[in-house]
Amino acid sequence: MSEVVVSLAMSGAGKVVGLTEEKLNAAIKDKTESCKIGFPETAFYLPMANALLAKEAKTLKDAKDILAHAKSLIDVKGTPGLVNATDAGIATLLCAEILMVLRYLYNEEPQADCNGFFTDNILRSLGIQLVDGRMPGFAAIIGAAPDNKTAVDIVRQFQERNIVVFAGGSSNGRSIIDQLKEEKVQMGWDNYIVPYGRDIASAIYPLHWAIRGALTFGGIKPGQADKCLQYCKERVLAFGLALGAIDDIKVAAAAGAIRMGFPIIADTDVPEIPATPFTTYEALVKEKDYKKIVSRCVEVRGIKVKVSHVPIPVMYGAAFEGERVRKENLFVEFGGKVSTAIEYLHSKKLDEVEDKKIEVIGPDLDIVKTLPKKNMPLGIEVMVAGRKFNKDFEPILERQIHRYINWAMGLMHIGQRDMIWIRINKEAAEKGFKLQHIGIILHAMIHQDYSAIVDKVQVKIYTKEEDVEKLSKQAQKVFAERDERLSGMTDESVDAFYSCTLCQSFAPNHVCVITPERLGLCGAYSWLDGRASYEITPTGPNQPIKKGSIQDDKLGKWKNVDNFVFDKSNKSVQSVSMYSLMVDPQTSCGCFECILAVIPEANGVMIVNRDFSGITPCGMTFTTLAGSVGGGVQTPGFLGVGKLYVVSKKFISAEGGLKRLVWMPKELKELLGDKLKKRCQEIGDPDFINKIADETNATTIEELVPFLEKVKHPALTIPPIL
Ligand code: SF4
Ligand code: ZN
Repeated sequence: MSEVVVSLAMSGAGKVVGLTEEKLNAAIKDKTESCKIGFPETAFYLPMANALLAKEAKTLKDAKDILAHAKSLIDVKGTPGLVNATDAGIATLLCAEILMVLRYLYNEEPQADCNGFFTDNILRSLGIQLVDGRMPGFAAIIGAAPDNKTAVDIVRQFQERNIVVFAGGSSNGRSIIDQLKEEKVQMGWDNYIVPYGRDIASAIYPLHWAIRGALTFGGIKPGQADKCLQYCKERVLAFGLALGAIDDIKVAAAAGAIRMGFPIIADTDVPEIPATPFTTYEALVKEKDYKKIVSRCVEVRGIKVKVSHVPIPVMYGAAFEGERVRKENLFVEFGGKVSTAIEYLHSKKLDEVEDKKIEVIGPDLDIVKTLPKKNMPLGIEVMVAGRKFNKDFEPILERQIHRYINWAMGLMHIGQRDMIWIRINKEAAEKGFKLQHIGIILHAMIHQDYSAIVDKVQVKIYTKEEDVEKLSKQAQKVFAERDERLSGMTDESVDAFYSCTLCQSFAPNHVCVITPERLGLCGAYSWLDGRASYEITPTGPNQPIKKGSIQDDKLGKWKNVDNFVFDKSNKSVQSVSMYSLMVDPQTSCGCFECILAVIPEANGVMIVNRDFSGITPCGMTFTTLAGSVGGGVQTPGFLGVGKLYVVSKKFISAEGGLKRLVWMPKELKELLGDKLKKRCQEIGDPDFINKIADETNATTIEELVPFLEKVKHPALTIPPIL
């Protein structure tokens, strides 16, 4: 490592430690050592200190201990080298975390237009995008581009590669956040651009968010510092992009990032650092050409980017999925409450489909200018054919239409089937976007993702009311048949279950076993999805597990399932039951939609969904509960599940099924709505839905038990759960 960089890192770290000491002492003087501190919605206290030092910092006194440790890291005898500089970097990160938590204490965070602290839930809810390639990497930008146009250019290039951008820091009093704001770039998690803060200390947010991946998904324990850092290097494909002049404090922070395995790319004359033991390739690189800087970043971090080349006049990629089209910017819309609109995908015989044929039947967008209201009817009919195509794949492909259309910049798609709502904004129309292009998108993307099962794709787009009505009638019938067929599928009716090991890139020991009556815990993979994905990629993350003979039909245990899981969990899980919460439950990776937890006092179980932020009767919030489930380990009494598992006949059937459920958030109850009511009828207690407590009846055990007694909840009279 260059001597210049080492000495800058040492001096920067010294300054940060000094500043932290000053601020911390002032806070202690103001509020005493026992004053409570913490970031919002996390189970990991000050996450960097928790991961690296196993410290559960709850008070200013605890922060003082962390600071003492940071000080020891910069106390170097003799001439400092690379290891000292990265230790100083870690000290800087530990201090930045304290500085930020002090700001929370004084209500100075988040800064205007910024996200502030990244909560644990964000990590969980992004789970699948992180593993399936929709978010191949993360860029932390620190500083400001030389001008607004360059700032937008850089960010758009990242978006096009689906790389999430954390924007912040400043240079010469300018922040990239304000550059993007001035150019009206939509920001937020949905847009893959997250503004964290305008100063260097707030750059800790993406960093200590990254390290929580090790604790959340990696099954690594707090205090296993080297393992946590190794996890970041191998599994969190992040890097820093420093725009504008760099001072010693920035270098100190950069040294911390490098110790986590995150290289730094700068647009100024920095002394470059070649490969280090901490990074995969180079550690510090300069690139002054803004046309090349983004691809240089991707290359230095070794990120595999999968871009979809779709010949349309607007940019295209997953990063545009969450972008909204607001009224002020609306060119035309379809569906929603304003017009009839439907999308429908079905398969035909090979000779009945003409590949690449895209027809717009009726007027295209040219007529919008003449319309009194900015809306039109729309019917999208996609016809596919393939030798290996199975009718069961139709709904799976149809569901992708949402994503495929949303990925076009300037387009917004909501809903499915005959409940769609599509908006196109003015910029897209100005660039020449026409309805024809929707067909081009669908044709290209279905071929790209499903070439193993689809040989031909033809698209018809209707814009005349009578044609849309006709298509709708035809589709409704098929939709009803599909629902019927799906609801009739049971675990007994199939020979094989499917595994999913997609999450192993983050949770190396985790295996999901997906059955017709139990979907993956992320809620995104059903048995049919597993099967389709296996047909498409026979060597991929979804493998059939032939059931063979059953070993225990109450718990739901099969020898073949056990063997498979043992083998694929790196021999860490001996046996799993498909239907039990208490005996050998399935493992959880971390991206579960809901958590089930046993409540012994009520002889029952509760469930809480990720979106519910309140306290639950077991005394914990989702976030705290989630901290104790995950990382590919089995935790009897706790289980990560998909929302829809609640309405399955196999819902913890080993423990008595739905009758055990004593508490769930109201919003989850409403979300499951009719499906839940139907299940209540099936168990012979149509009023059962009202016997399940929610937060309006009880938020503590003391309130819960009397409520259950009052409504005569069956859990109180069935055999003990423990
Ligand atoms: Fe991850 Fe399981 Fe969902 Fe697969 S099914 S993506 S392993 S949570
Ligand atoms: Zn997962």
